[in-house]
Amino acid sequence: MTLRITPQPGIMDIALYVGGKSALAGHDEVLKLSSNENPLGAPPSAQLALAEAAKFLHRYPPTDHAALRQAIGDVHGLDPARIICGVGSDEVLQFVCQAFSGPGDEIIYTEHGFSMYPVLIHMAGATPVCVPETERRVDVDAILAGVTDKTRIVLLTNPGNPTGTILPEGELERLAEALPETVLLVIDGAYTEYAEGYDGGARLAGERPNVIMTRTFSKIYGLGGLRIGWGYGPQELIEVLTRIRQPFNLSGVQLAAAEAAVRDRDWVETCAALNAQQRVRLVGALHQLGIACDDSQTNFVLARFADGAEAEAVDQWLQADGIIVRRVSGYGFPEGLRITLGDEEQTGRVIAALTKWKEGV
Ligand SMILES: *Cc1c(COP(=O)(O)O)cnc(C)c1O
Repeated sequence: MTLRITPQPGIMDIALYVGGKSALAGHDEVLKLSSNENPLGAPPSAQLALAEAAKFLHRYPPTDHAALRQAIGDVHGLDPARIICGVGSDEVLQFVCQAFSGPGDEIIYTEHGFSMYPVLIHMAGATPVCVPETERRVDVDAILAGVTDKTRIVLLTNPGNPTGTILPEGELERLAEALPETVLLVIDGAYTEYAEGYDGGARLAGERPNVIMTRTFSKIYGLGGLRIGWGYGPQELIEVLTRIRQPFNLSGVQLAAAEAAVRDRDWVETCAALNAQQRVRLVGALHQLGIACDDSQTNFVLARFADGAEAEAVDQWLQADGIIVRRVSGYGFPEGLRITLGDEEQTGRVIAALTKWKEGV
């Protein structure tokens, strides 16, 4: 049989997504530190709101997301008319790529950028252009050097995943200032709440005609399983994105849980404080063990070993102890293991396992 049905350009360039492990044979108490999930789980406020909303599953949800956009606007001091909500920030990024690029266009992302970016770029039929970082830090000059007359979008994670490093506000501003007005700068702020004194790019997205910020409920809000994210930028651009958003992309339970979570400021404060405490502890322990890592502005730490073989050996060692972390070869770090910060007990378990490994080598 000869297939005469052919996919659109770019689609066959997308590698099928392989999810991270969540179980290990022979272990009941698996510690999953591979997906940057919140060790405190989902906020009780959001769980309650979700249960209440579940009484109305026969109803179609609102299409305008007005209550959630209002809540986000209230909490962050943003105009709700400039906010769009999606099925994870991934969907918002998908809208951006689809709405503002197509075959023949280029989208720039950086060497250690998020693995979803090339997928989203190919989905739009555009061409991914990967530019180098310098010492695990986003390099503004390298991005600017990558701009051509075909460039339509720059996708930037800040703070970075899996590097955990942050591009300072001044550098972000320099990038926004230097990019042509026809190039859209997208600042993916999935880890914003873990970086002290950083607004995720909100001010730039508020002031400039070509900057959009994306945010998520999957990390500090502990709602990764529910799939909710949002974007903020110039109203005209948000209205373009809204045209390709399905009217019922978010369910009533998603909207209700997210609204409760965003208004639960105590939750965010508690989670950020726990994370900051455990981050100091894990980074300190890694240094003491002679394992390289940068200072992190996120809820994970990128530990760097001698080479890929050693990272593989440590990964196996941790798995034998029931601990799952993330190999990050696909992000350009064959020697790296990305370790999500857990609570007091979980971080202790990782440190103990790494200490035992070190004693054996
Ligand atoms: C986790 C993460 C997100 C969040 O994606 P969702 O679709 O909102 O779950 C976005 N960007 C980066 C870089 C991430 O690591």
